Parts: sequence; C-alpha cells; structure tokens
Amino acid sequence: MVELDSVTKAYPGGVVALDEVSLSIGYGEMVAIVGPSGSGKSTMLHLIGTLDRPSAGTVRVDGHDVAMLSDRQLSALRARRIGFVFQQFHLAPGLPALDNVADGLLYAGVPLKQRRRRAEAALIRVGLGDRLDHRPHELSGGERQRVAIARAVAGDPALLLADEPTGNLDSVSGAGVMDLLHELHAAGTTVLVITHDREVAASLPRQVAMRDGQVAS
Ligand code: ADP
Ligand code: MG
Repeated sequence: MVELDSVTKAYPGGVVALDEVSLSIGYGEMVAIVGPSGSGKSTMLHLIGTLDRPSAGTVRVDGHDVAMLSDRQLSALRARRIGFVFQQFHLAPGLPALDNVADGLLYAGVPLKQRRRRAEAALIRVGLGDRLDHRPHELSGGERQRVAIARAVAGDPALLLADEPTGNLDSVSGAGVMDLLHELHAAGTTVLVITHDREVAASLPRQVAMRDGQVAS
C-alpha cells in the first residue's frame, strides 16, 4: 500500500524533517507511528497522503510513484483511495454532520443524491445515525471526531491516515475512536495512526518509532 524508499524532506530554511526514511506498509496493515514532537511524524503522513512531495527519494502509494503523477492525478488518487483524520477535526462550522460528510465526496465526483446517501450510511456506521442534522457546535468532541472519521471513510478509501486522532479527546471518547479505527482495519482498510499515547500505540499490531527524522525501530 505504501513504500518509502530513502525519502528525505527538507523544508525551506534548512530543517531536514525526514532523513532518508525507508518503510513498507502492506495492504490491510494497521500501524502506529510514534515519536517525540518534531521527529517528523506529520511530515511523513503528509508525504504518504500525497499532500506534499519529497525533496529526494521515492514515495509509492497503491502502486503509484507519486513523482510520476500530475497534481490532477494526485488529487484523484487522494479522493478515491485515501482518507484523512486530523487532531482538530477540521469540520465546517454551521454545517450539519450529514453535509460535512457528504461534501467530503465532492472531489471524488459523486453526484449529490449519492453523496448524501453515502454520508448517511457512513454516519450510521460510526454510530451517529441520530445526529445527522447536528452542527459541530452541537456535538461532543468524540462525536465531532466520529463525524470526521465518517467523512474520511464515506468514499471507502483503501488507506486511512490519522494524525493524533485522539489528541483532543478525553480517554473514553478516545477509546471509542480507536475502537472505530480497529473496526475499519478489521473490514480491510489499511490504517496508519500517529499517536503520542503509549497505550494506544501498544494496542496496534505494529509500531514504527520515529526519532530526529529517522525510523528508530
Ligand atoms: P511531528 O509531527 O513528529 O511533531 P513534524 O513532521 O511536524 O513533526 O515536524 C518535523 C520538523 O520539521 C520539525 O522540526 C518542524 O519544526 C519542521 N517543520 C514541519 N513543517 C514545516 C514547514 N512547513 N516548514 C518548515 N519546517 C517545518
Ligand atoms: Mg505532528
């Protein structure tokens, strides 16, 4: 699903966030990415999610060498194969949960009626079938993150990338979100989770430890 081959990412100003990282993640794996703040975890997730390009080395996602794809082809790859979940939820304020999820399918070119139908199914799947019309400020933190997960999986992506998905949640809501990610993995989705939480990391089948822009173990 993911193959990094000697990937380096240097930001303007000279910070080398990733230093010749090589890593393979198979289809259907569930992996925790752990490491101290500044070790390059988010940078790695951005490169895997094709939101950014490496300075050197090769990033392959689902068989595609990212460097060989145009911006348009990358957008299509993201829209059809990759789902994203972030610590800060990134929901549109004032918009009902159903529309927040349905709008996530815009770039996949799904027609409106089908977007709404799929969004409803995704919200039911994350246990929010009775919150379709609730706006983000009418939902708890855990519920907001479940809306974000519904948006990420509504297009049935092969790869789900989550950057500190439980970082803003209390432990009970966080456990609910992790249960949901485990369910998606059990259903066949490849799941990568960045986490600070040792317990969360230990609960996943594989851990990749980052330090100073390199894979430490
Ligand atoms: P982590 O997610 O592990 O905390 P990041 O990947 O966010 O680490 O950051 C790795 C390093 O790259 C840090 O030193 C950070 O300051 C730097 N960095 C991250 N994003 C940028 C950017 N857009 N421009 C310049 N430096 C950045
Ligand atoms: Mg980070």
